[in-house]
Parts: sequence; C-alpha cells; structure tokens
Amino acid sequence: MIFFFSIGDRRHNDHGPLDEELCPFCNESHFRVLSLVRYWVTVFFIPILPYRTIWVSRCTYCSGETEIEEGELPHLKSRSDILQKAVDEDWSEEQLEDALNQSRHL
Ligand SMILES: [Zn+2]
Repeated sequence: MIFFFSIGDRRHNDHGPLDEELCPFCNESHFRVLSLVRYWVTVFFIPILPYRTIWVSRCTYCSGETEIEEGELPHLKSRSDILQKAVDEDWSEEQLEDALNQSRHL
C-alpha cells in the first residue's frame, strides 16, 4: 500500500486589510493583508495535523510575506479590524481618522 503524506502544506486565513507600505519583495507601494498561516501535515492531500501557526503581513500585489512578531500583533489586529469596518461600512476619511485616533488612546 502506498502511503502518501507531506509536511509543510500552508493554509492562509485572511484576517483583514492593513495599510499601504513599501513592499520589501516587489519594491513597490501596495496594500497589505493580515493573515494567519497554518502549516499542516497532510495525508493524501488532506490536512490532518497543524504543527506551526504564524501571523504574516502579505503584499496584495506580489504575495510576499513578512512574519509578524507577537508584540506587534494586538496593534495590527486592532488596526485591521478598523480598516475592514471602514471598507464594509464605506466610512469617510474623517470617520476613519477618528476611529484610528481613538484606538491609539486605548
Ligand atoms: Zn509586493
């Protein structure tokens, strides 16, 4: 019987948008996405066991990823939540600035 398994299969789960930044991979300024990446052990291409979880900031143009350190994560999650809400509810620039300023004081 052939038993086919692999290690290192990556699955992304996007959390939300981040700000536009200069990407270190494509050297252009593009918006980024906050994403949770899980590495899996797979058997017959079916993910069975997650063995590593990291948060990354991914370029929306070239998909280049930068791993996020744990200390930065609460701030980036909060910012991403606000930016996603601004997109979903079509906020004005002023509403977005007010929300971002309030989040800095929490
Ligand atoms: Zn890029």
